[in-house]
Amino acid sequence: MCGIIGYSGPLEARTILLDGLSQLEYRGYDSAGIAYFDSRSKIHVVKKTGKVSHLREAFSSVSDSSHCGIGHTRWATHGGVSDANAHPHRAGRVTLIHNGIIENYHHLTQEFHLESGLISQTDSEVAARILDLFYEGKPIPAIRQLTERMEGSYAFCIMFDDHPGEIYAVRSVSPL
Ligand code: GLU
Repeated sequence: MCGIIGYSGPLEARTILLDGLSQLEYRGYDSAGIAYFDSRSKIHVVKKTGKVSHLREAFSSVSDSSHCGIGHTRWATHGGVSDANAHPHRAGRVTLIHNGIIENYHHLTQEFHLESGLISQTDSEVAARILDLFYEGKPIPAIRQLTERMEGSYAFCIMFDDHPGEIYAVRSVSPL
C-alpha cells in the first residue's frame, strides 16, 4: 500500500517529507518521490525506484530551503516499476500524487485524447492531465470537476504552480 505525506509550514519541508516517507516504509512500496516549492516558489520533483534512502541521497548537496511539499511511496498497480511511473506526476501547472486505482482511466485517456502526451503508464498521470485541462486558476472547482469524472478509489494530494505554499487533498475509498 502506498504512503502519502504533505507539509506546509515554517520547518524544512524536504526533511519532514523524507522522514515521513521513512516512517511509512513498513507499508511496502517500490518507488518514492517528493515535490516541493523552492525558495523562489518553483516546484521541483524528484522520484526514484527503490528505497527512500536512495531518494534521500539525491538531496545530499541541496541546501535551498523549502517550506511546502508532498511525498509518496508507490505500490504499482498500473505500469511497471520505473522512475517515470513513480509519483509525483507533473502535468502543466499540476503536481499530483495518488493512492488507489482509477478504474475508468482507459476510457478517460481516450475521451480527453491524452494518449500521445502521457509520460508514464499510470492511471494517476491521467488524473493529473485531466485536472490540468480543467484548471483555470482556481483549484477547488477544478478538483471537483476531476472527481466527478473519477471511478474507483483515490486519495490525491495536489500542488499548483501558481499557488505556492498550498496543498490540496481529496479522497474517496482510499485512506489519506
Ligand atoms: N495506481 C497508481 C499507480 O500505479 C497508484 C498506486 C499506489 O496506490 O501506490 O501508480
